[in-house]
Amino acid sequence: MLRAFFVWLSESRALRAVAERSSIGQRTSSRFVAGTTVEDAMSATRTMNDLGLTVSIDNLGENVTNPEEARQSAALYHKLLDEITARGLKANVSLKLTHMGLDVDEKLAHENVCSLVAHAAGCRNFVRVDMEGSPYTQRTLDFVRELHRVAGHEDTVGAVIQSYMRRSQRDIEELLAERIRIRLCKGAYKEPPELAFQRKSEVDSNYVELMKVLLKSGVYHGIATHDEKIIEATKAFARAEKVPPNSFEFQMLHGIRRDLQQKLVRDGWRMRVYIPFGTEWYPYLMRRLGERPANVFFIAKNLLRR
Ligand SMILES: Cc1cc2nc3c(=O)[nH]c(=O)nc-3n(C[C@H](O)[C@H](O)[C@H](O)COP(=O)(O)OP(=O)(O)OC[C@H]3O[C@@H](n4cnc5c(N)ncnc54)[C@H](O)[C@@H]3O)c2cc1C
Repeated sequence: MLRAFFVWLSESRALRAVAERSSIGQRTSSRFVAGTTVEDAMSATRTMNDLGLTVSIDNLGENVTNPEEARQSAALYHKLLDEITARGLKANVSLKLTHMGLDVDEKLAHENVCSLVAHAAGCRNFVRVDMEGSPYTQRTLDFVRELHRVAGHEDTVGAVIQSYMRRSQRDIEELLAERIRIRLCKGAYKEPPELAFQRKSEVDSNYVELMKVLLKSGVYHGIATHDEKIIEATKAFARAEKVPPNSFEFQMLHGIRRDLQQKLVRDGWRMRVYIPFGTEWYPYLMRRLGERPANVFFIAKNLLRR
């Protein structure tokens, strides 16, 4: 119930406009967002790299409403790729197709992302296309497959699969047939029962089944979760099947389970932290609150302390 409520809040444009401009909103978001500027993102990335963790940088934003905004979003990602290279950081980028203009002009979104993937290929980097709600699932997967087929883009663009979606096993088979790198997550949106498992036990057991397929595939994938049971199951499966620890990576979100992130690295596993930054943090924060409503109390306590 609460999760659905926060997902509903995340979609409110009116609340978003008010929250993103308020100072209390900005203080609240700092729990999960690394700051508002490219410099903030670079500094957070450097801190993670120094601890032995790699990063995926996400400039927050989704559902742009005109071509100019979409072009500006893409330009900022070009800057990110240049800054990562210039500073020798161990980081790639994650983006959302609706931030690149998918709802405004599909051709423009394609041009925007294609030029980013070409840029990433030129500097030996990588572009992860985040997965949004189910109206975008098929379009996003088609998009990634098309980009991946362009000569020189192999291994430079990857997809995200959500274990709550009933279709995910089939989607994984299709992506693996083209050796496309996958980030596996549980899924952060509100989906109807005909499309998505509703019970946590079903989402989790599907996650474990899909994780096994990914680890055995011989392609480099990301296991994105903070769920300790699933992380233990992944480690156990990798050991039992002799899957080398450097042939996949764990991924977690900035500000969540920092203790576990560092422990995994100390134990010899690869860990990538997803670092979001920017001024359009409202929908992202609402989804994080929905995953763990206790965060509301945690944030309120910290605000009162200041
Ligand atoms: C790197 C990365 C990229 C992602 N990309 C996408 C994407 O493209 N599309 C998409 O739909 N979803 C994405 N997600 C979000 C994902 O789908 C889940 O909503 C989110 O990761 C919570 O699920 P969980 O696997 O951590 O398990 P859960 O069962 O939700 O949580 C397990 C435990 O993790 C901790 N935890 C989880 N969430 C929080 C939180 N918000 N605050 C504090 N503690 C928490 C708690 O200890 C909790 O008990 C991504 C997640 C990660 C880590």
